[in-house]
Amino acid sequence: MKIERNYNLSKLNTFGISVHAKLFVEIKNEDDLKGLFETPEFKNNQKLFLGGGSNVLFTKDFDGLVILNRLKGIEIIEEDGESVRIKCMGGEIWHDLVTYAVDRGWWGIENLSLIPGTVGAAPMQNIGAYGAELKDVLENVEAFDVNTGDKIIFNKEECELGYRDSIFKNGSKDKYFISAITLKLSKKEKKNLDYKVLQDHLEKNKIEVKNSKDVSDAVSHIRRSKLPDPAVILNAGSFFKNVFLQSGEFKKLQETYPEMPYFSEDNLIKIPAAWLIEQTGWKGKRVGNVGVHDKQALVIVNHGGAKGDEIQGLAQEIIYSVYKKFKIKLVPEVNVI
Ligand SMILES: Cc1cc2nc3c(=O)[nH]c(=O)nc-3n(C[C@H](O)[C@H](O)[C@H](O)COP(=O)(O)OP(=O)(O)OC[C@H]3O[C@@H](n4cnc5c(N)ncnc54)[C@H](O)[C@@H]3O)c2cc1C
Repeated sequence: MKIERNYNLSKLNTFGISVHAKLFVEIKNEDDLKGLFETPEFKNNQKLFLGGGSNVLFTKDFDGLVILNRLKGIEIIEEDGESVRIKCMGGEIWHDLVTYAVDRGWWGIENLSLIPGTVGAAPMQNIGAYGAELKDVLENVEAFDVNTGDKIIFNKEECELGYRDSIFKNGSKDKYFISAITLKLSKKEKKNLDYKVLQDHLEKNKIEVKNSKDVSDAVSHIRRSKLPDPAVILNAGSFFKNVFLQSGEFKKLQETYPEMPYFSEDNLIKIPAAWLIEQTGWKGKRVGNVGVHDKQALVIVNHGGAKGDEIQGLAQEIIYSVYKKFKIKLVPEVNVI
C-alpha cells in the first residue's frame, strides 16, 4: 500500500474530469485498510471512497485522501437446493458478479446486468434497472466505520434502501467504507420480465427465456443499444433521478399536460425525468464542451476537455428550465464532489 500525492483522477471517473487528489491510495485487502486507518494521512484528512467512478462528478481538486476500492473475492456462505447466499467483496466489478451468478444458473441479479461500477458502491444508491433493484436480493452490507475503524454489519432494513437512495447517501454519508455485501440468490427459476422494454425486446426477437443468462443477455443487448458507453463518450449514466409525485399533485399537472407519460409505483406516480428534459428542448443540445445526449435526455456528456463545473452548470440550467415549465425540481442522481 503506497500513499501517493497530487494524483490525477481523470482515468478514475467516467466523466473523465481531470482533477487531482491531494493524497491517493489503492486498497487491495482488509489488512491494507486496517493499516491505512492508523496512518496520519487517513486520520488528518477528509476521505473519499472511489469504486469505478461511474456515479461521481468532480468539480474541483479533492483536498484530502481518495481511497480506491480494489477488495476482491466472491464466496459462497451457505446453499441448499433452493437458494444460495454469497458474500462479495466491494472492489469486485458489479457486472462480473452478475456473470458469476448467471453462469451458475442463479436468479436475482440478471436484470441488473451491465450496470457500471463496483459491488461496494451498489448499496449507495440501491442500484436498479429493468424492474429490479439491489434491495430485492440484498441480505446485508459489511462496512468499516471511518472514525473508529470498527467493522459493522448492516442488515437490509438498516440500509434504508429506497429509489436510488440509502442511508449511505444520506444520514451516514462519508461515515462508512463498504467492504462487502451478502446477497441471497435463487437456484429455482425466478423470472422478472414485467418491465415493458424488456418484455417487448423478448417478444420482438422471439426469445424464450430458459435461464437467467438469457435475461442477462437481453438486458445487456438493450443497454448497449440505448445507453452511451463511457469508453466512447464520457458520461455518468442518468444524471437526474426520475420524479415521484402524489397522485393529487400529478392530476393537477396532467390537466395542463395530458400527454405526460407516467407509471404507478408504490402508491406514487413516477414521471420520467427524461421526458421533462425533452420538453424543455435540452435533448441533444451542446454548450461548449458539454451537452445532453441526443438519444438519452437524462444523460449529460463531456464532449472532451470539460471541467466539472461546466457539467454542473449545465445541470443547473436543466433544473431551472424544468422547474420554470413544470414547477418540478429535478434531483441529481450523480454524486457531486
Ligand atoms: C453508462 C452508465 C449507466 C448506468 N446505469 C445505471 C443503472 O441502470 N442503474 C443504476 O442504479 N445506476 C446506473 N449507473 C450509475 C452507476 O453505475 C452506479 O451508481 C454504480 O453503482 C456506481 O458504482 P461505482 O463503483 O462506479 O461508484 P463511484 O462512482 O466510484 O462512487 C459513487 C458514490 O459511492 C461512494 N462509494 C463508492 N464506493 C464506496 C464504498 N466502497 N464505500 C462507501 N462509499 C463508496 C463514492 O464516494 C461516491 O459517492 C450508470 C452509470 C453509467 C456511467
